Amino acid sequence: MSRTGERRYETVIGLEVHAQLLTASKMYCGCSARYADAPPNTHVCPVCLGAPGALPVLNRAAVDGVIRTGLALHCEIPEFSKFDRKNYVYPDLPKGYQISQYDLPLCRSGWIEFVAGGETRRAGVTRVHAEEDTGRLVHRTDELGHDVSLVDLNRSGVPLMEIVGEPDLRSAAEARDYLVALRQTLRYIGASSGNMEEGAFRCDANISVREVGGPLGAKVEIKNMNSFRAVERALRYEEERQRAILDAGGAIEQETRGWVEDRGVTVSQRTKEQAHDYRYFPEPDLPPLMVTPEMVDRIRGTLAELPAARRSRFVADYGLGEGEAGLLTQEREIGDLYEAVAAGGGRERARAAANWIANDLIGLQNERGLPPERLPLDAAQLRELLDALAAGDLTARAAKELLPQIEGGESPLAAARRLNLLALDDADAVRSAVLATIDAFPAAVADYRGGKQAAIGRLIGESIKRTGGRAKPDEVRRLLEEALRAD
Ligand SMILES: [Zn+2]
Repeated sequence: MSRTGERRYETVIGLEVHAQLLTASKMYCGCSARYADAPPNTHVCPVCLGAPGALPVLNRAAVDGVIRTGLALHCEIPEFSKFDRKNYVYPDLPKGYQISQYDLPLCRSGWIEFVAGGETRRAGVTRVHAEEDTGRLVHRTDELGHDVSLVDLNRSGVPLMEIVGEPDLRSAAEARDYLVALRQTLRYIGASSGNMEEGAFRCDANISVREVGGPLGAKVEIKNMNSFRAVERALRYEEERQRAILDAGGAIEQETRGWVEDRGVTVSQRTKEQAHDYRYFPEPDLPPLMVTPEMVDRIRGTLAELPAARRSRFVADYGLGEGEAGLLTQEREIGDLYEAVAAGGGRERARAAANWIANDLIGLQNERGLPPERLPLDAAQLRELLDALAAGDLTARAAKELLPQIEGGESPLAAARRLNLLALDDADAVRSAVLATIDAFPAAVADYRGGKQAAIGRLIGESIKRTGGRAKPDEVRRLLEEALRAD
């Protein structure tokens, strides 16, 4: 809510997300659903090319994925569902229709919890339904200098689900937080890669601005947003645009607008009069789908622990802070790794594992440009590293130096041996480093002997440095105190 001039406005946002389902094959045929790296038009058959008379066969794994999503979003799963044809003409749609779901979706009436501005919020999910993706058009200039559009049908028929949210969101920032949580949920349950750059997670937004207490305003749909940031920017822009029109006494027109990323504006694409009429009718080539309670129970049994539940459990079980638990549960695989190292090891181990992942491993992961779910060490390696630290075989300093030099799959102890970073077990070597330090820093020695206890810190640090970071701090302190007393 905010005040512009005399009027007080409220923004109402609802999001529609299309997410590709993680399946081996397409929605209605056996072609591979992996289209990203395949040469154009190589993953095609009469069904996904839309040849007359070719008959679709429903992909069971895709239906399971939609239902799993519905359960993760607390939806009802009706026993009876059906497929419908959505008719329109476009060059990337050879059949002239998509097989989708209209009035009887697989899942309905759910909700999702997300954190917005530090507070837990809940937004309604109207429905989740199954459908298929279209092909892709590639626009380019050919060898003769003609602008041409080429069609690649590898994506035609790839399993898709649409997740329609209730208009429960009140700001652009909240819309972004909702999307982040939704994408995280889909990745957790293995329903979708959620990869936005590859188009596996796409969002359209409906936004209207109304005077507080007034009737709902005309709805504007925004398309072409390819990142979380773009969604937030587009909604913020649109909110301002609509308020300015209302302030000037104008009326908002119901329309579809496209986000133009490089200009930072939305532009009109089509008005209400030009809206499509898809002439939905029941798909005659697919029988209605009966979803038995047994089927729902089976799928419920495969559902992984959801991010919000895991976050609270990490706080309770391992004594983590909220922010830290959020970081460690951002990706399911990282949470799994944390738990594999921390579980059963007591609070100290849980703390050490959290610190190493949050401060060192995630930093190194970013440096190396690894995918968000992959850390540079696996659980066995991190466990070995923490064991070596706890046993004093590695000093904290040597461990930090070692970390980026551990090669894929290598044992950290073996790497430490290879790089000569194991804690110095040679008392004579440590003693000579200590004595050399005492010679080199007479002022600090005088300070210490004069009663400045803190001066020993400097001497400890310098002594350790002389051993290449491999001397154990406790041993150095003991030997220093001994030597300073003796002189
Ligand atoms: Zn096919």
